[in-house]
Amino acid sequence: MVVVLKKNVSEEDKKRIKDFLISRSFKINEISGEEDTVIAAVGRAHLEKEDLFTLPGVESVIPISKPYKLASREFKKENTIVEIPNNRGQMIRLGGQRLVTIAGPQMIESREQIFKIAREVASCGAVILRGGVYKPHFSPYSFQGLGEEGLKYLKEAGEKYGLPVCTEIVSPVLIPMMKDYVDVYQIGAQNMQDFDLLKNVGALGKPVILKRSYTATVEELLMAAEYLLSSGTDQVVLCERGIRTFESSTNNTLDLSSVPVLKAHTHLPVIVDPCHSVKHRSQVPQMALAALASGADGIMLQVHGSNGKGFSEAATSLETVQFNKLMHDVEALAPVLGKAIVHIREEKIQNKNTDANASEKKSDKITCAYSGSKGAYAQQAISRYFDDADVDSVPLDSFSQLFKAVTDGKVDYGMVPIENSLAGSVYQNYDNFSRFQDVSIVGSITLNIRHSLLGVKGAALSDIKNVYSHPQALAQCKKFLDQQNEWNQIDAVSTATAAQMVAQGGKKENAAIGSSVNAQIYGLNILQEDIEDDPHNFTRFVIIQANHVARLPDAHQQNIKANMASFIFTTKNEAGALFSVLEIFSKMKLNLTRLESRPITGQSWKYWFYTDIEIPEDTENPQKKIDEVLSLIKEKTEDLRLLGIYSEEKH
Ligand code: PEP
Ligand code: MN
Repeated sequence: MVVVLKKNVSEEDKKRIKDFLISRSFKINEISGEEDTVIAAVGRAHLEKEDLFTLPGVESVIPISKPYKLASREFKKENTIVEIPNNRGQMIRLGGQRLVTIAGPQMIESREQIFKIAREVASCGAVILRGGVYKPHFSPYSFQGLGEEGLKYLKEAGEKYGLPVCTEIVSPVLIPMMKDYVDVYQIGAQNMQDFDLLKNVGALGKPVILKRSYTATVEELLMAAEYLLSSGTDQVVLCERGIRTFESSTNNTLDLSSVPVLKAHTHLPVIVDPCHSVKHRSQVPQMALAALASGADGIMLQVHGSNGKGFSEAATSLETVQFNKLMHDVEALAPVLGKAIVHIREEKIQNKNTDANASEKKSDKITCAYSGSKGAYAQQAISRYFDDADVDSVPLDSFSQLFKAVTDGKVDYGMVPIENSLAGSVYQNYDNFSRFQDVSIVGSITLNIRHSLLGVKGAALSDIKNVYSHPQALAQCKKFLDQQNEWNQIDAVSTATAAQMVAQGGKKENAAIGSSVNAQIYGLNILQEDIEDDPHNFTRFVIIQANHVARLPDAHQQNIKANMASFIFTTKNEAGALFSVLEIFSKMKLNLTRLESRPITGQSWKYWFYTDIEIPEDTENPQKKIDEVLSLIKEKTEDLRLLGIYSEEKH
């Protein structure tokens, strides 16, 4: 059962409630959520609700109807986030807003093999390295794994590339030996109901990936998770990998419909391993993408590298080129799912404290400014780009204040919208790049803009008479608004401000158009979701940093190769000046993806140009290539400034 405590409960009352439950042989767990503090109590003793209600501090008592208790959503409303640290001071979080990819060979075969695969999967975007060392194969005559020797290689390879490691444990007797090597234990499908194994692994308190047996129902999977949870770990990840059905054209039926069911019934993160369901690797990417679309928090993939000829499950293990393509597709899909990707930090990170302004900052977190109020789309972009728990987002009143705060070192970064797929360029910010000389672009992120209609609690669509929002958002929801009966459309400075105004007014006839995040922030209800005319509504943001500060630890400034460069220039005032610059790009076979011209303030009819160019994927050294381009362009331009070389998601 879940005992919900009164908001102002005293520590003394809380202790009395806990002592009472313990005295009746209940196992208890206190959970402080965003809304309530609750005590979850699991046990077999029979209690009358009244026994608890007589205790001061108890608000309500909710029985848990499911046979699994600790794993159920009734027990814990918020998603559990499983945290796995790597050796670069970074926390990989599974179950939050970020998609996690686990990759590596089915089995570790040699030191050389796992190092090669680790390097390849890390450079493509895997964040946890997998590899089997004990294999419960159907045949006793097949390769059984390298055991401890393999674990040593796995750990070393993981450390070299900043990847925590994950491997299957097949027996509790292996725990003392394995515990020095393993970051995440995997319980294989064939052992899902080895209750002794579950109890012993659970007692380690470490992250565990529990695979669904091919003969287990969703409820049986959750009961197995209950064994782990009740033995002492709260770090459990569930993994769907296919179940046995009458179908024989596939190896197993990947039960993706179990993913939303699991997400509804449990707070635990859910991942999917598509490799065991198909007969051939060519079918893995489709199922991996479908898994993420079904709501999975991550994917686990067998990758046997380039030219890999692994002797374990080679037919269903991806080659590196396929894995690389899949990771690009995942990156493109993520914004549609409202998620972002976890990336591993690059190896050499300068200490944040070398920043002269660091002492002024209150916390150890990265700070990133945006223009707008809490809940603005730019704030969502910040929590996607950085890891939510590592960043404080700082609202400011205007874009120029944002550029100034970054220049002055008041914040570490700024999140700057630069163009919208429907509305076009945000010219102000192009101008800010010419005004503020001391900032660079260090990254970019694209956000899928989804609008919702937000109203006060208790309001229905039929109550609405006035709708508030930023003019652009109103324009983007034109079809929806046209269907309504003559609502007054009222402009607001931003979508977040509109939400705030509606909340403060408290009137049922007012509604705002904004992101669903605003509903939570301003205590509003979502009256209708996804009301934008065009689902291809994307805003591209760039992340800026002052030039004079040390590079900060940021998961996105990773070892993924830069693929984009931006710069601004002015040309000589003569015939063919711009053409002579463009000719250089063409000669160097560089794809120019953007060219904007802006008037130079104070100089009538003179312009400066902003350009983005793509750096081809096979470029060995992006910096060198761009230096080369710049030295050629320099002769043809007056002012030339490189804004940054960075990595940009491809769509
Ligand atoms: C594996 O991931 O290596 C594996 C064998 O998976 P499963 O337990 O799902 O069969
Ligand atoms: Mn396998």
